[in-house]
Amino acid sequence: MSTPAAITPVKRPVVDLYSDTITLPTPEMRAFMAQAPIGDEQKGEDPSVNELTAMAAELLGKEAAVYLPSGTMCNEIALALHSRPGDEVLADATAHIINYEVGGPAAISGINVRALQGERGVFTPEQFRAAIRTPSRYAPRTSGVVIEQTSNAGGGTVWPLETVAGITGIAREHGLWTHMDGARLLNASVASGIEPVTYAAHFDSVFIDLSKGLGAPVGGLLAGSHAFIEEAWRLKQRWGGAMRQAGVVASAGVYALRHHVERLAEDHANARRLAAELAGIPGLVIHPEHVETNIVLFDVAATGLTAAEFGRHTMDEYGVRVSVFGPTTVRVVTHLDFTADQIPLAVRAIAGAAASGTLPAAA
Ligand SMILES: *Cc1c(COP(=O)(O)O)cnc(C)c1O
Repeated sequence: MSTPAAITPVKRPVVDLYSDTITLPTPEMRAFMAQAPIGDEQKGEDPSVNELTAMAAELLGKEAAVYLPSGTMCNEIALALHSRPGDEVLADATAHIINYEVGGPAAISGINVRALQGERGVFTPEQFRAAIRTPSRYAPRTSGVVIEQTSNAGGGTVWPLETVAGITGIAREHGLWTHMDGARLLNASVASGIEPVTYAAHFDSVFIDLSKGLGAPVGGLLAGSHAFIEEAWRLKQRWGGAMRQAGVVASAGVYALRHHVERLAEDHANARRLAAELAGIPGLVIHPEHVETNIVLFDVAATGLTAAEFGRHTMDEYGVRVSVFGPTTVRVVTHLDFTADQIPLAVRAIAGAAASGTLPAAA
């Protein structure tokens, strides 16, 4: 008989500001999931999945929607369906499709995503127009545009509706397709007071993530025309994303869309409060006025620490986990499992890390 190996306990953060992906289903969500009707999803026989996709189509004002295992699959299916190998797609340099999908657009669809240098993740209609290539025998064909609402790596920036309308209007003029990576579209809507459908109306396809601020454990929803979603189903099946009794987890999405949308305002308020407090800490460069939703970025270069060293300090000394977002950029994200009473410890940890730095600015 073999001896069981010693188990090293994983140190859990006391306060976790790493991402809005870390949320756990609430007891109410778990109870809802436990009683949800289920069936064979890929046969269209799972009532919970069917309810969820109907809710998404209605929320986004599209003819249909499909439930997928991840937001990444939503984006990659959309890109694959919209374009042909050799096409060029325009997106901001900070975009998820460029930085966090393992080169999927190139590897899967043979497309080149050209990065536009926006401001906090948001480029202008003028930049967009200038980047569209004149059709020629030599150049790649500019075929579409992806807008990420909100911009994650831009710091949770909300794309203004007029910018969205301007860019997608130009896209249509040039016969380009439009896709919204709306992983955090509902954060944008709650922050701006503009309905999801109002943003979504400008796009051929839209995806929203269930496992970010909405607090469901798994999944994304991709919405578009009937024909588009029919084709999306073919790729879902081909890529192994078609499921069986998926309602076990999809029901969490139904619950989240009913109960976890309005409360995103709390996350935004907590992010603003956190940013206001962090602005008083010597050695941090932070712009509280840029905090529009649930993401706060700050720079720690003036403390003499790298972001990795900074994050190790907050975690090891205080049990506060932040995310290392660049060599000297730290990101904190508020979410369902972060409550206002955790702000003081988060601030203490970040102030402690800053003070542990080696440069006079941090003294
Ligand atoms: C998280 C995220 C995705 C991908 O979603 P997953 O469900 O993690 O695959 C896509 N776009 C943005 C902007 C995201 O933040």
